[in-house]
Amino acid sequence: MRYSELASIYEALEKTSKRLEKTFIISKLFKKTKEEDIDKIVLLIQGKLFPLWNETKLGVSDRLVIKAISVATGISPAKIEEEWKKLGDLGLVAEKLVTKKSQATLFSKELTTEKVFNNLRKLPTLEGAGSVDQKIKIIAELLSSAKPLEARYVVRTVLEDLRVGVGSGSIRDALVWAFFDKKVRVHYDEKEKTISPDNREEYNKLVDAVQHGFDLKADYGEVARMILKKGEKAFGELTLESGSPINVMLYQKAKDLKEAFERVGKPCALEYKYDGFRMQIHKKGNIIKIFTRRLDEVTKQFPEVIEYVKKFVNAKEFILDSEAVGFNPKTGKYLPFQAMSQRIKRKYDIDKMAKDFPVEVNVFDIMSYHGKNLLKEPFNKRRKILEKIITPHKKKLVLAKQIITDDLKKAQIFYKEALKVGEEGVMAKNLEGIYKPGSRVGYGVKVKPVMESLDLVIVGAEWGTGKRSGWLTSYVLACRKGDKFLEIGKVGTGIKELEEQGVSFKELTMKLNPLIISEEGKTVRIKPEIIIEVKYEEIQKSPTYDSGYALRFPRFVRLREDKALSDVSDISLVEDLYKGQK
Ligand code: ATP
Repeated sequence: MRYSELASIYEALEKTSKRLEKTFIISKLFKKTKEEDIDKIVLLIQGKLFPLWNETKLGVSDRLVIKAISVATGISPAKIEEEWKKLGDLGLVAEKLVTKKSQATLFSKELTTEKVFNNLRKLPTLEGAGSVDQKIKIIAELLSSAKPLEARYVVRTVLEDLRVGVGSGSIRDALVWAFFDKKVRVHYDEKEKTISPDNREEYNKLVDAVQHGFDLKADYGEVARMILKKGEKAFGELTLESGSPINVMLYQKAKDLKEAFERVGKPCALEYKYDGFRMQIHKKGNIIKIFTRRLDEVTKQFPEVIEYVKKFVNAKEFILDSEAVGFNPKTGKYLPFQAMSQRIKRKYDIDKMAKDFPVEVNVFDIMSYHGKNLLKEPFNKRRKILEKIITPHKKKLVLAKQIITDDLKKAQIFYKEALKVGEEGVMAKNLEGIYKPGSRVGYGVKVKPVMESLDLVIVGAEWGTGKRSGWLTSYVLACRKGDKFLEIGKVGTGIKELEEQGVSFKELTMKLNPLIISEEGKTVRIKPEIIIEVKYEEIQKSPTYDSGYALRFPRFVRLREDKALSDVSDISLVEDLYKGQK
């Protein structure tokens, strides 16, 4: 496919904020895409080059893109920066500057989506001496052949910031519209922007099937390729497979134990809610793999967990869900999540890290056993399998502590005990509940004592003064509305002056500095990427921020490097919490 075709689709998507219209545009694109291109197109339309579970990041900075634009157009980096300040988006800068150039060189080679995809995918493989120049060369080469509109989107794709607003729901629905049109005949009324499938029931079933395929594969590209190849038969073949990560099930929140019972039914299972990080553990034969909540593979970082799994889980093939909690090897005391996050990213000295910062794995669910899919089995049956195959070893690998009860008093004693030993709270789980990947369903609810914290993304900051000079301080926070971020307050409290004391201004400054989009006096705008967990006394209505809300006494709790931008707290949660506190 010509890249210019894709670029005009991006432009059409950018022009509308209506979800159905976006879905319609995408479905038309899918319809004319060939089987060999579909997985790439599905990724590119989301501004991605790798599926969700692939941890590869392009890692291209704004500076590098400026140099590439300069090489492609012959315009100086200083001039490009000037334009960037005016336009606030390097994509638009590239578009404008390439316009000037293309008047001079009218005959350039036509870009294809394949070429853009393949060349950009080379970027993360380049490492070591000379790699920066090679990266600049690859991007500059694409920009030299690009027409202005194409340049806009090449640059935005490189920077992993496409800004066309395509959510995964639109991809899912567009796949049904595009490939099952004969069966459900979806009519789209361009004027009214409404849809009406001929057979609503069948349509909903197909939407669910595509969603389920995605939850099992965590990659719409593969789901699309299978559907295009096999039609409905694909759903039978998009199955759970040990070794390929699945979207984990999420839980809702109950305000107290009484509500928890009402929501999940009586009797139910109560478990400790461990405060660590989620670990999905796969085993097939001799191969064991570990994935985070975001489905990044972290097998190499946790050699001791591999050993525990080999020794204490007696089965050849399975997928487990668990929470890994760090502890101090000298005192045996459990550590907050923050102390462990360094292990997730660590690439060297791994054995030493495993000794200095060991983890205990608390297994709480099983999704597949001996190749059999357990997702539709009731929770109590899944738990029985866990009890059968796991030999618990304290401070290594254990089963999540559980009681089954219908008695509020017993539940309260269990809850108090959980808090006393330093856990976050408890989970209450429906005994008959299935495992629904990728959804925040009510088969389980969490009960925690504190006001629910928010996961917010940093979108701005101020250069500090006095003893904080040289550091970014006073971080502007935003919640999410669809794929937009709305400001909700500023935080400076809870961040440490000294590195030994925890997350420091210096550490945050180092993370935020490369993400600065623009500066005005002491104020900077920051590309949304760094997510932090924030506590507060109260949520108030406020005209100061574009979310319409403000946080009273916000306090930094921890960095949430395990969360993706799509996990940033939604404005609807803020609204619910606001109403709930009254
Ligand atoms: P939080 O910030 O409160 O951890 P979250 O958004 O990360 O919430 P939720 O689905 O709201 O995720 O809460 C459940 C999380 O709690 C799981 O993702 C898991 O990491 C953790 N957890 C700890 N113990 C358990 C348990 N026994 N059963 C299920 N999840 C548990």
